[in-house]
Amino acid sequence: MSDPVTTSFDLECRNVSKNFAAFTAVDDVSFQIPQGSFFSILGPSGCGKTTLLRMLAGFQHPDSGDILIKGRSVLDTPPNKRPVNMVFQHLALFPNMTVAENVAYGLRRRKAPRHEIESAVTDMLARVGLPDSGGKRIEQLSGGQKQRIAIARCLVLKPDVLLLDEPLGALDLKLREQMKVELKHLQEKFGTTFVYITHDQSEALVMSDHIAVMNKGRFEQVGTPQELYYQPDTAFVASFVGDSNCWRGTLISRDSEGAVIRTASGLQFHVEGALANLQQGQEAQVYLRPEAVKIELTSPTSHGDASLGCGGENRFGGVVDAVLFDGARSQVQVSLDQSSESISVALPQTPMFHNIGKGQRVQLSWAAGQCSCFPA
Ligand code: ATP
Repeated sequence: MSDPVTTSFDLECRNVSKNFAAFTAVDDVSFQIPQGSFFSILGPSGCGKTTLLRMLAGFQHPDSGDILIKGRSVLDTPPNKRPVNMVFQHLALFPNMTVAENVAYGLRRRKAPRHEIESAVTDMLARVGLPDSGGKRIEQLSGGQKQRIAIARCLVLKPDVLLLDEPLGALDLKLREQMKVELKHLQEKFGTTFVYITHDQSEALVMSDHIAVMNKGRFEQVGTPQELYYQPDTAFVASFVGDSNCWRGTLISRDSEGAVIRTASGLQFHVEGALANLQQGQEAQVYLRPEAVKIELTSPTSHGDASLGCGGENRFGGVVDAVLFDGARSQVQVSLDQSSESISVALPQTPMFHNIGKGQRVQLSWAAGQCSCFPA
């Protein structure tokens, strides 16, 4: 039944679950995707992404819940009648057909008039930036060009929603980087809603308007890339999205502004926020981004300043253990004074840090509010 409230969403799932015997692969998942947006489902291998995507496509039927496209339930609509199309990881292009025949395939099956097919194919090849490739065979295309043709073959059918099942997984790293940007441009150009599944957080962060982080069949958090990165709701999201330092410790005191956590090795630091469920004496997990830590070089004889004050900065002296040079995202591992803990710190891109080496003494600091803290 059509529901007027949902019609501004291209796709909506309501309490969708899928079991395989006693195993629950998708567990009570609900979400809504606004028209024309890029929505990614991000999670580790086996978390249920493909099963969910296959239910959206109609290849699998949910055990409970409802799936609506443009406000109408599609549960009783077979895959070939749903206003969705799917790009598979291995693209599934027909090697025995030309590029133009591949793009025309769906329209031919729909028995569209010949002149309409020809003009739609010409238009689509131009829009994906391959206007002269119609006569080529698939094996004459590069990996990135095949990708674009696979998408063109779907978009020529004007689906409401395009489902993409890890389509960059088979490409080499450099091409994958390039295709992330291209895919986002294509999505914006066509204005079609994309639902993209991936286990690669950098793909999801770069391309998506919204991301759902999936774990063990459930959605842990749905938000913009920035919300997931800076305000993770759960420990899983904090650890899965982006790089983080992670410590486990005990909450030893708290006040109106925050709390102090002490790790087993004696490291003590102040944290804020997300503490509502934590009581004194309870175990906590604390996450801190490497780029949230300020680093200063200090002299070899300096002892470093270790201090923590409620609501203030955490300050620690330490020694560089390892330098992980990676150009723009270089990091150091620092052993903190007065504990056996070490911490990853992103290096600022200033000449002062270009020659930093093992054994360098440093002073580190971070604001209490930079930590994300969850019950362990
Ligand atoms: P990957 O990224 O590795 O493809 P995924 O997140 O897409 O993983 P799914 O393929 O959806 O995960 O699988 C989720 C779970 O459901 C897995 O444990 C898988 O073994 C199980 N599963 C999927 N399909 C079936 C099936 N037809 N029969 C039984 N179990 C299945």
